[in-house]
Amino acid sequence: MARKPLMAGNWKMNLNHLEAINLVQKLAFSLTDKDFDAVEVAVLPPFTDLRSVQTLIDGDKLRIVYGGQDLSHHDSGAYTGDISGAMLAKLGATFVLVGHSERRQYHHEDDGLCNAKVKAAYRHSITPILCVGEKLEIRREDRHVEHTLAQLDGALDGITAEQAKSLVVAYEPVWAIGTGEVATREDAQEVCGAIRMRLAGLYGDEVAASVRILYGGSVKADNIAGIMAEPDIDGALVGGASLDQGEFVRICRFGE
Ligand code: PEP
Repeated sequence: MARKPLMAGNWKMNLNHLEAINLVQKLAFSLTDKDFDAVEVAVLPPFTDLRSVQTLIDGDKLRIVYGGQDLSHHDSGAYTGDISGAMLAKLGATFVLVGHSERRQYHHEDDGLCNAKVKAAYRHSITPILCVGEKLEIRREDRHVEHTLAQLDGALDGITAEQAKSLVVAYEPVWAIGTGEVATREDAQEVCGAIRMRLAGLYGDEVAASVRILYGGSVKADNIAGIMAEPDIDGALVGGASLDQGEFVRICRFGE
């Protein structure tokens, strides 16, 4: 079965709940059924926005889906400040980011913790968008493929083929995130193709063919078409440009 492209907007720590409603309303006004038939569109707002986004999307039966930017690997308990998979599931979250490079960098999340978070997401029937990718020094040493595959292996330890079928992986070279520096489509394809091959090795061809692999890193309306033309890239994880309704809509239309 063909993989439906996914365009996911990572709002990071931007937009309060009123601004969130405003942006989702504008997106819903611009995107048509034809767009939603062609791509899945997701927004990943801050936790404090999720209830408002849910109410709007459910109330108006919008075809936009949503999710969290992180989750705890615990299901409940004395973990001040954390949000569980159960809480996200109760709010109707479809997706959750795991291992975004900003979490790895500022919150010291390692592959073991990402693995526990991937498992927590699956326990609550939320699809993890597992973020992997190398820093600039690793690319300069030409170790980007092996580094990214090691992150993938670490985060998927103990994950079954049945679970992996629905996985989303986002390849995000850290040097391209929020920098305006976009990987060439060939660079992105090199790593995304290697990720799919590794998934085939771990879970077989059928599972590997069903996993969506996104590219992330300074995606804009004017560079998305080339990226989407690559065979192993099934969408984008979009940061800064997802805060601009017009730009994100054009990204969802592959730059048209
Ligand atoms: C991201 O936050 O995952 C991202 C890719 O950000 P940006 O598009 O701003 O580079």
